[in-house]
Amino acid sequence: MIWDELEVGLAQLASDGLLRRRRTLDAPCGPAALVDGQQVVAFCSNDYLGLANHPAIVAAVRAAAEHWGVGSGASHVVSGHLRPHDALEERLATFVGRERALYFTTGYMANLAIVPTLVERNDAIFADRLNHASLIDAALLARAQHVRFPHGDMAVLAERLAQSRARRKLILTDAVFSMDGDLALLPELLALAERFDAWLVVDDAHGFGVLGPQGRGSIAHCNLPPSPRLILMGTLGKAAGVSGAFVAGDRRVIDWLMQRARPYIFTTASSPLLAAALLVSIDLIERGDDRRAHLRQLIDRLRSGLAGLPWRLLPSLTAIQPLLIGENAAAVQLSERLFARGLWAPAIRPPTVPIGTARLRISLSAAHADAQIDALVAALRDCAADGPF
Ligand SMILES: *Cc1c(COP(=O)(O)O)cnc(C)c1O
Repeated sequence: MIWDELEVGLAQLASDGLLRRRRTLDAPCGPAALVDGQQVVAFCSNDYLGLANHPAIVAAVRAAAEHWGVGSGASHVVSGHLRPHDALEERLATFVGRERALYFTTGYMANLAIVPTLVERNDAIFADRLNHASLIDAALLARAQHVRFPHGDMAVLAERLAQSRARRKLILTDAVFSMDGDLALLPELLALAERFDAWLVVDDAHGFGVLGPQGRGSIAHCNLPPSPRLILMGTLGKAAGVSGAFVAGDRRVIDWLMQRARPYIFTTASSPLLAAALLVSIDLIERGDDRRAHLRQLIDRLRSGLAGLPWRLLPSLTAIQPLLIGENAAAVQLSERLFARGLWAPAIRPPTVPIGTARLRISLSAAHADAQIDALVAALRDCAADGPF
């Protein structure tokens, strides 16, 4: 009995072309991937600056292991908060220009911490429809009213805020949308937060390190005025190339999270090795203008190379370049044809994206070379000529 639904569910996923398949890699994260014995060029990772195995970061981890060992041994609020964690929080707060920062083990956990700790029953959350799954889960966990507005629709958002009689209001958005690559209208969102006395939580998983002067992120990129109602979440496993996340903002918000956020209090602090790695990674991000310039050039190269194909490249200026295919099976088939030619770009299907908008999510990294982009462009042009999909 208890097995029937699982078996039917798995069979259904398979027949809908929705089964996820893991591949095991035998080389470090980078464009040159070794997958099941096959050498391929990967366009999959979020390692946008190519820092995931940078020698200076590896050296910092080695040195930190000698000094700190590996485990932190306890939660941050018991005895697991070591000097490298503390130094990292100071560095992050200064880097993004906020009063304080709190370091989390993952971005998923940071989002689950922020939302339910700030709003609860009788409060309201206003969320963009294309927000990341972790923000949706965070809103459900908060048990507040969950109002979702159409992607980027500021008029609907303003209307819903005006109608709301909730005690506390919180606006929730990705800064760079993870499956589309476009930017939220941050100045407009902040203006609405001011006007309706709401908090604005910005998830900058894909902007931190990549956008803004010295890679300070989407907030800096948009030149947002300083505001205590702005709460910034940044992840450290993407452009920063390591692992973890941070929440930065007004001192009162950070103090409250530290006191009350269950995903902060009831989990073991991550290894101090990661904090030591991140201290070097932030330096590399800050001095990474060349990497960011190379990445921008690769983005332009890909976009001009793919112009005129039967599939539309979504209008993204970021490292996330989604090629809209439509049907699940067609997206999977295209991804497999590319893989057979030594090029790895994943097919993204519902429920990660809306039904009928399956896509290839091409992610670029400063570690890519021009020739690798050219090879992808040539292969996609061949596949388009071969059709049909
Ligand atoms: C990846 C991602 C997260 C989760 O961060 P992790 O550190 O990987 O848990 C949260 N929000 C967005 C928008 C993301 O893309």
